[in-house]
Amino acid sequence: MRACVVVALAVVSLAMQPGRRAISLVIIGGAVITEDARHSVVAPGAVAIDGTDIVEVGAPDAIAARYRASDTIDARDQIVLPGLINTHTHAPMVMYRGLADDLALMDWLQKYIFPAEAKTVSPEFVRIGTRLAALEMIESGTTTYADMYYFEEEIAKATRDAGLRGVLGQTIIQFPVADAKTPAEGLARAEAFIKAFKDDSLIVPAVAPHAMYTNDKATLVACAELAHRYGVPLITHLAETEDEIRIAREQHQATPTAYLESIGFWGAKTLAAHGVWVTDEDIAILKRRNVGVAHNPESNMKLASGAAPVKKYLAAGVALGLGTDGAASNNDQDMFEAMRQASFLAKHSEHDPTALPAQAALDMATIGGARALSMERTIGSLEPGKRADLIAVSVNASRQTPLYEPVSHLVYTTRGDDVRTTIVNGKVLMKERQVRTLDRAAVMADARRLAERVRAAVGR
Ligand SMILES: [Zn+2]
Repeated sequence: MRACVVVALAVVSLAMQPGRRAISLVIIGGAVITEDARHSVVAPGAVAIDGTDIVEVGAPDAIAARYRASDTIDARDQIVLPGLINTHTHAPMVMYRGLADDLALMDWLQKYIFPAEAKTVSPEFVRIGTRLAALEMIESGTTTYADMYYFEEEIAKATRDAGLRGVLGQTIIQFPVADAKTPAEGLARAEAFIKAFKDDSLIVPAVAPHAMYTNDKATLVACAELAHRYGVPLITHLAETEDEIRIAREQHQATPTAYLESIGFWGAKTLAAHGVWVTDEDIAILKRRNVGVAHNPESNMKLASGAAPVKKYLAAGVALGLGTDGAASNNDQDMFEAMRQASFLAKHSEHDPTALPAQAALDMATIGGARALSMERTIGSLEPGKRADLIAVSVNASRQTPLYEPVSHLVYTTRGDDVRTTIVNGKVLMKERQVRTLDRAAVMADARRLAERVRAAVGR
C-alpha cells in the first residue's frame, strides 16, 4: 500500500515537473528509423512533435523528461519511420483500377485510357477518385504524393481535406481533354490553379505537361515558362518506352531528354517520371539540371516498358524517388510494394543482387523522394525542424517473425496493411487503422456508384 502511494506521488510529480516543455504529441516506438544523413536508428525511440513540426527524436526516457505532451501514441512494438513519398501517380485513376490490363503502353493509353477519360472525367469523377486514392494512401503509409491529372483544383481540395501533402500538377496536353479544349486553356487553368494554392500549407501546385510526344514545342516551352514565373514545380513523363525514343528520334533527331534540353525545358524544380530509356548523356543532363526522377518499377514491369537504370542514376547522384504510377497500371498505391519491386527489378535487370539494397530502396521512398520533389528541407526524414510526417508500422505478423533487421523487414516483408498510424503535418490522419479525416464507408460507396457509370460509358 505504501509503495503504491510512493509510485502515485512520483507520477504526479513527474507530470507537474516544472521546465518540461508543453507540446502537442509524442509517439513512442520500438525503433525509430530517422532516415537522416547518418541513417540513425533510435531503438527504443520517441518522436516529440509540436504543432506541425518535429521538435526532437531521442530515447523515450529523455523525451519524457523534457516534454509534456497533450497526446501520446504508443507504438512500442512497432517501427516508426518517415511517411512514404509517392513521387508519381494520377490519383483519380484508381477509378480505372483493373479496367484494362495486360496491354503495352501505347495501346493501353490510346485505345483504352484516353477514350475512357474522354467519356468519364469530370470534377465529380476526380473528387470521388481522389478521395478513394487518399484513403488508400493514408491506409498504406503514404504522406506526400506527386500527381498529374485534370481538374487538379478538385484533387487539391480533396487532398487537403484528407490531410495529405501533395505536389499536384495540372495536366497540359495537345489534344482536347475534359478540362481544356486547347493547350492554351490548360495553361490558363494551370495558372489559376497556382494562384489559388500557392500559399497552402499542404499543397504545392505544379505545371504538368503530359509528355514531349503529346505536346508540341510551343506548349512545352510555355509550360516551363509558367512554372519558372511562379517558382513552382514542372512535372512530366519522360523516356517511358522505346516507342517514345523512336518518336523523338524521328521528329527531333534526339532522345526525349536531349530534345527537352535543346528547347530549354529543364529548370529548377523539375520532376521527370520514368526515365527508363536514357543514355549516359541523358543522365548527365538530368544531373546537371537537377531534375528529380520518379522511378515506377511496378508500372514499368506491368506495361513491359523496361527497367530504368537505377544503379547508374544513383551512381551519378541524380535525385531518385519512387512512384506507384496511376492505379490503372499498377494496380494499387502501396509504396511498400513499390520499394520491394524496385529492389527486385534492379537486381533482376542488372543480374546483381547488390544493385538496390533494402536501405537504398527505403531511401528512395523517403528522403530520396523528398529530394526529387525539391522538398528535402521540410520532409523525408525525422529530424528537428522538419514537418511531422511519419508513420508507425506493425511488425508482428507471422511473415515478419523473427525480426533481426528493421530496414530489411520494411522493404522485403511489410505491406501497406501493416501501417497502424499515419501522421501528416503533426495531425493524426489514422490511428490504429481508424482513418479520421475520411468517412471510409462513404468514400467506398461513392466510388462503387461511380464505377457503374464508368462501366456503362466504356461498355464493360
Ligand atoms: Zn504516369
